[in-house]
Amino acid sequence: MANNFSQLARKSKANGSADKISKEQTGKPSLEIYKLGDNILRQNSKRISKVDSSIRTLAKKMLQSMYAAKGIGLAAPQIGINKELLVIDVNFEDSAAEPLILINPEISDYGTTLNSYEEGCLSIPGVYLNVVRPSTIKLKFRDEMGRPRKMKADGLLARCIQHEMDHLNGVLFVDRVTSKEDLNKELLKEGFHEKDVIPINCS
Ligand code: ZN
Repeated sequence: MANNFSQLARKSKANGSADKISKEQTGKPSLEIYKLGDNILRQNSKRISKVDSSIRTLAKKMLQSMYAAKGIGLAAPQIGINKELLVIDVNFEDSAAEPLILINPEISDYGTTLNSYEEGCLSIPGVYLNVVRPSTIKLKFRDEMGRPRKMKADGLLARCIQHEMDHLNGVLFVDRVTSKEDLNKELLKEGFHEKDVIPINCS
């Protein structure tokens, strides 16, 4: 997910322990981020059966690319890898806050309250549109050491997790936009095409 608060995104210097990932928002993403229209974004991802050092290395590279692209979330399919791996950091301005690495995430419960909020996506740069989603979720996942974990999320974090999990099913946030008029206007403005959207009937 792209952050739409880039005015807040001042360079946050990481305070340097060797294992810490710098949240530096300068430089180029080390991984190519695929864009709307690329078929790789439309495929289902596979569960990760073994969480090993190659997965941890991949997660680190994804975090570096996410920070460099000024994002708050990135899913493995966005860098061309159809595996159930997400990285998220809604506290990108806070260099001390740990990013989340979610492996094989599953939502076990959705809250009944829905809310509408503007989303963006590193795969659809420049496009920001309102999407309706449940405002709270319960989640099961594995962490970067392969340990089973559970968490509850609300607010921006709950939204970001749902947005990133959609990527694992080949779904993009523009598929969920209900206002066709706004959608087409936004896409056109950034040089994207309506034909690359696969609308979901949200009821
Ligand atoms: Zn996205």
